[in-house]
Amino acid sequence: MKEIVIISGKGGTGKTSLTASFSYLARHYAVIADCDVDAADMHLILKPKIKRKEDFYSSLEAVIDNEKCISCGRCQQVCRFDAIDIINNEYKVIPLNCEGCGYCQKVCPAEAIEMKKRLDGEWYISESRFVTPLVHAKLGIGTENSGKLVALVKNIAKQLAEIGKKELILVDGSPGIGCPVISSLSGANFVVFVTEPTVSGVHDLKRVYELAKKFNIPCGIIVNKADLNFEKAQEIVNFAQTENINLLGQIPYNDVFTKAMVKGLSIVEYKNNEISNKIKDIWNKIIKIVNL
Ligand code: SF4
Ligand code: SF4
Repeated sequence: MKEIVIISGKGGTGKTSLTASFSYLARHYAVIADCDVDAADMHLILKPKIKRKEDFYSSLEAVIDNEKCISCGRCQQVCRFDAIDIINNEYKVIPLNCEGCGYCQKVCPAEAIEMKKRLDGEWYISESRFVTPLVHAKLGIGTENSGKLVALVKNIAKQLAEIGKKELILVDGSPGIGCPVISSLSGANFVVFVTEPTVSGVHDLKRVYELAKKFNIPCGIIVNKADLNFEKAQEIVNFAQTENINLLGQIPYNDVFTKAMVKGLSIVEYKNNEISNKIKDIWNKIIKIVNL
């Protein structure tokens, strides 16, 4: 079983549109893992019907039992995160500030503090419009640990791929270079960077590549909107050559990205368009490289 991860250093490069198209092309042999857990938007195209929904708990938070509390104030003194306040003359934990370190519980003389599991989000297994199963998730507002949620989504996708005898896990990674991207990359066989020829596009591509290099995973670059800035596009081509990265393809700017999104379709499903063939060529290159 192979695992291909599609990432971009920044948002707005067209990564989701391309991933949706690749999902369509791989629909008969792939499980899709949408690991953009902070701001998932592939559902706009894949239109998942949720078949299973589970809570995601990954951290702890302190809860004060005010029946037991003797208002000594020690918990507030030791909390380094300003997570304990006095509200209506009662000591209360502010959940958004609580880091779950448990220090307050240790110093409480009245055993009034309990460390409880915190609901950090939800994950789902869905049937989608054309590819099944799709594993996706949503991180709770103001919660962290998106890296753990990504690892969980990938793990579930892997189990489903084994059960369904699917050859591929196609992972839609999140933007940036933080924890969720690191989790997305872990265990991958191939990484696809989607970038655009802008100053920030080039900068973010280099940052995310440095991260992927640490995992020693073969990778390739897609330059989207390549004709918007020939100089920057050439800089990306030169970078790919210098670093020995596969240049998978250059896609010119085309409003089919927006038109297809508005219709809730992947680009390869959207009538005949020149971009569709380019995407198919790129996908064929990728599956050849990973030996699928
Ligand atoms: S668990 Fe840590 S962060 Fe949370 S309230 Fe207690 S001391 Fe503060
Ligand atoms: S340390 Fe315990 S008893 Fe003291 S204020 Fe905090 S919760 Fe109440």
